Amino acid sequence: MLNKVMKKNLYKLILPFFLLFLSSCDKEEVEFNFSNEQNAVFDAFEWDFSKQNILKVKKLKNNISVIFGYGGNILVSTGKDGTLIVDSQFPQLKNNILDEIKKLGGGNIDYIINTHWHFDHAEGNRAFGPTGSTIIAHENSREFMKNNNNINIVLVEYPQQAYENKSLPTITFKDEMKLNFNNNNISLHNFGPAHTTGDTIVFFKEENIIHFGDVLNIDSMVFIDSGNGGSLSGMIKNLEQALKIMNKETVVVPGHGQITNYETVKRYLEGLIITKQKLIEMINNDMSLEEIIENNPIKNLEEILGDTTVLINRSYLSLTKDQTIEKEL
Ligand SMILES: [Zn+2]
Repeated sequence: MLNKVMKKNLYKLILPFFLLFLSSCDKEEVEFNFSNEQNAVFDAFEWDFSKQNILKVKKLKNNISVIFGYGGNILVSTGKDGTLIVDSQFPQLKNNILDEIKKLGGGNIDYIINTHWHFDHAEGNRAFGPTGSTIIAHENSREFMKNNNNINIVLVEYPQQAYENKSLPTITFKDEMKLNFNNNNISLHNFGPAHTTGDTIVFFKEENIIHFGDVLNIDSMVFIDSGNGGSLSGMIKNLEQALKIMNKETVVVPGHGQITNYETVKRYLEGLIITKQKLIEMINNDMSLEEIIENNPIKNLEEILGDTTVLINRSYLSLTKDQTIEKEL
């Protein structure tokens, strides 16, 4: 048996090694390796993770801010209940994101809500999940994150790898769920397939702020992942439903692009309704995808919808799929 003095000395001997071990743990950075195909997509988007000052922060209301960076816009809520974010960008930006959250008065991330499973909104789960953040997403998004998937963005394809167990959502929902966090009633809505089959529109009731994920993309183009079940008709339905929970004063956070408002959502919806009408007309006239793109019927909507080539391509796929299903019924 060790006597008291020996115990004291043993403690002195072990303590420095223990502290050294702790500090080395702290510094150890997990390496995230991406395939050549994935890196090619980062290059296509001109995302250089070695750059400084990638992130920009905008305060919206009280304790809610947005972090712009590479990939989807991050909404941050800080306060007495802790820190919650909507979307997680990339693991390479982990420390930068945490630094910005600290400046906003927050700490480690308690909750992450993913608006959907795409890498540019959820890849950061791989850094934050293993350090204890609880991840929430639509049930279909969890299924997609569990498996390898190919995202056909038309101009490029992104092979998204299955996520590790600790990076997956542990809380999922089907139609709607509610959280009460930092004095906000936060409602999560899924209005059926739209940009993907697992979209979540997040509404902060008291602050009157809504995060659309990629159901609203006002950065460069509308993208519908119809290769994985996304749907133009579903985008229209989602936007109509979202407008019902909003009002003219609602602050709108798009999946990509600057903070906007009710009017933009309305115009974007109207643009998609026209897109659907024009494309159905042309498909019914037996025009091929190439012919439709050549005679682009929605060129005049590019001010609100961005470049329309990818939109036409993916909408054509989703509308012709819908028609095949209707014929089979
Ligand atoms: Zn997306």
